[in-house]
Amino acid sequence: MSNTHDPVAVTPLTPEEVAQAQTEALAAIAAARDLDELKQVRIAHAGDRSPIALANRRIGTLPPGERAEAGKRIGAARKAINEALAARQAELEAERDARVLAEEAVDVTLPWDRTPLGARHPLTTLQERIADAFVAMGYEVAEGPELEGEWFNFDALNIAPDHPARSEHDTFFVEGPHTGKVLRTQTSPVQIRALLSRPLPVYVVSPGKVFRTDELDATHSPVFHQVEGLAVDKGLTMAHLKGTLDRFAEVMFGPGIDTRFRPNYFPFTEPSAEMDLRCFVCRGASAVPGNPPCRTCKSEGWIEWGGCGMVNPRVLIACGVDPTVYSGFAFGMGIERTLMFRHNAEDMRDMVEGDIRFTLPFGMEV
Ligand SMILES: [Zn+2]
Repeated sequence: MSNTHDPVAVTPLTPEEVAQAQTEALAAIAAARDLDELKQVRIAHAGDRSPIALANRRIGTLPPGERAEAGKRIGAARKAINEALAARQAELEAERDARVLAEEAVDVTLPWDRTPLGARHPLTTLQERIADAFVAMGYEVAEGPELEGEWFNFDALNIAPDHPARSEHDTFFVEGPHTGKVLRTQTSPVQIRALLSRPLPVYVVSPGKVFRTDELDATHSPVFHQVEGLAVDKGLTMAHLKGTLDRFAEVMFGPGIDTRFRPNYFPFTEPSAEMDLRCFVCRGASAVPGNPPCRTCKSEGWIEWGGCGMVNPRVLIACGVDPTVYSGFAFGMGIERTLMFRHNAEDMRDMVEGDIRFTLPFGMEV
C-alpha cells in the first residue's frame, strides 16, 4: 500500500462508502450465530484487510485538509463496529456457557444400575441346600465324573448290556457306542465309586448333572440334575430309608408334608419304591370323586418325587461288600423337579436359558 496521494486509491473514503462498510459489518455481527461465525465476521469486517481498516490506512494519502474529518468519521465507524463485536461476543459466550451447563447437567433421576448384579442360579443354591440337609444328618458330599465308564453307569448297577433299562436311558455315547465312555445318565454311578473308595459304613449324598438325549421342552432337557443318596451300614432297613426321605421332604417343602412309598422296580435296588408327596395344590382333595380336578397331580392326590429302595445285593457284591453283613438304601431325586415343586416353576426351559429375569427373584443366596 502506497502512502503517496493517489486519487484512484482514495475513492473508498467517501462518507457513503464508510457508512455502507459499517452497516454491512453491523449486520454481519448481528447475524453471527456462534463464536466461530463471529470470529469470521471479525476477520472480514474489523481485520487487517477489512474495508474499514483499508480506509483507515488510506487517511494518510488524503490531502492534509481532509485528513482530520476523514479520520474522525472512520474512527467513529471502527468504534461502532468494535463495540458491536464486543457486545455480540459477550452475548454468544453467555449462550455457550448456558448450553454447556444444560448439556453437562447430571440427571439424578436416570437409572443408576446400568450393570445389574446377577444372582446365583436357583439350581445351584438348591443343590447346596440339599447337600446341607444331608450333611446335617451325618452324610458326606461325594462327587463323580460326568464323563463316566459304561461299567459304572450300567453294569455295576445291575444293568447288564441286554437289560431293557439300558435302552430306556437315551445315552450319549462318547467316541462311539463301543468305547465304554458315556455321559452319565444318572448320578447312581457315584454310589459305586463311593463304595469302592470309602471304608464302611458309607453315608454319601451326591448332587450333580446327568445327561440324556432328550429334546429341550417344558418338561425335558438333555442336561438336568439329580441328587443321589447312599447309605450302607449294618442293620439298615426300609424304615431308615423312609425316615431319611421324610426328613429330606420336610427340609425341602416344610413340616407336615405327607409322603408315601409306592412299589416300583429298579435294577440296582430290591425292593424298590417311588416316593410320592401329597399334592400341595389340592392336598389330595381332587382324588375324591365329585371334587374339582387338579392339574398339578392330575387328580391323583399324589405327585411322584423320586425313586429309592434297598441296595440290591448284586450291587454290593460288585463293589466287594458282603451282603450278609451289610445292607444299604439308595435314593435319587430330580433337582429340577424339586425346584418346580418348591417354587412353582413350570417350564424346564426357564431353568436352562439363562434369562436373568427368572434367576433374580430367587435372590442372592449364599
Ligand atoms: Zn393336586
